[in-house]
Amino acid sequence: MSRHLPVVGILGGGQLARMLSLAAAPLGIRTRVVDSVADACAAQVTELMVADWSEGRGERDEAALADFASRVDVVTFDFENVPAATAQWLASRVKVFPAPAALAVAQDRLAEKKLFRECGLNTPDFMAVDTRDDLERAVATIGLPAILKTRRLGYDGKGQFRLRSAADIGPAWEALGGAAAAHGLILEAFVPFERELSVVAVRGRDGEFRMWPLTRNWHVDGVLSLSLAPAPDTSDALVETAAAHARTLAERLDYVGVFALELFVRNGELLGNEMAPRVHNSGHWTIEGAHTSQFENHIRAVLGLPLGDTGARGCSAMFNWIGEMPDPAPVLSVVDGHWHDYGKEARAGRKVGHATICAPDSGSLRERLVQVASELGRDGQAEPAVALLG
Ligand code: AMP
Repeated sequence: MSRHLPVVGILGGGQLARMLSLAAAPLGIRTRVVDSVADACAAQVTELMVADWSEGRGERDEAALADFASRVDVVTFDFENVPAATAQWLASRVKVFPAPAALAVAQDRLAEKKLFRECGLNTPDFMAVDTRDDLERAVATIGLPAILKTRRLGYDGKGQFRLRSAADIGPAWEALGGAAAAHGLILEAFVPFERELSVVAVRGRDGEFRMWPLTRNWHVDGVLSLSLAPAPDTSDALVETAAAHARTLAERLDYVGVFALELFVRNGELLGNEMAPRVHNSGHWTIEGAHTSQFENHIRAVLGLPLGDTGARGCSAMFNWIGEMPDPAPVLSVVDGHWHDYGKEARAGRKVGHATICAPDSGSLRERLVQVASELGRDGQAEPAVALLG
């Protein structure tokens, strides 16, 4: 009888599925990915099944999904916007982690923010908006500036409109009123935060909880541009509070797998922005910068294997490459520089790759970052981290 190697099924075949597959391989674990498009980049490293499961693209292909479910040991996600009904349908056939109920909460910005508050994590002020009158009322209550966001299907700053003055109410409604009819909107106070941090954490099937060191993040136009880990100048108290919130949320949702909790720091207080129910862009540095990467620990968690050490090896900085890949040579030439090309076609606003620079201490990380950024002509992108490491 041939030996059974575990197979993890992944809904969504983007770069996260690709990196999950690459992390699974050394453990003798295979992956099988479902996506609605044939050129999904995970297909370069694992087996892709093309099937329709997304909302708005017609009926889900139940025959293909049933076949998929019968050929994997467990199902997980690289994409949080898998319709909850599809996740539920799969869960009646095969183990699904995180559970569809946890996914459903994290898909809805309103449900998520209510949960944060119930768990004692403060958030920016927010109000649900379903009609133009609601929007007027929410602006009157919350004040300006504010951000109008779609409750569902938004990510990387998509489905968002910033309101600076009352004159923006009309254009904001014009841009997002259509989405209000489908899934509702949320108006949030604009937070003049001092910094953005993320907790990337993992919870096992037995409830074991581990988190990587806090990551400091910088976004440009709502898209992650740069991460630095462990986040410098972070008090033990702040780390403990962030960890306690992440653990409480994970336990409340009976969450299994890796997730990210995105936080703002305002006047020293942590505010919850959003929870991503999957491996996260701000945890990509863990591939080379931590003892166990977020991708490996997610695979371990969903299969019920022991979790690996989430401690950092020194300091790491990660650049996101958006739109097109730069010249790899400067990163490939620097000590402990790591290049990730997702094999995607260049397209404005698209995440096409990233690079992580690691070093034993913050001084040498600074030197390496300055060198790489200057050779790439990316001094501006590296600057916030360079200034902190100074
Ligand atoms: P999101 O898709 O909600 O994570 O938003 C993307 C980025 O936009 C965040 O990481 C912040 O940089 C910024 N942002 C989102 N919401 C707010 C807010 N309420 N106040 C200030 N900045 C925000």
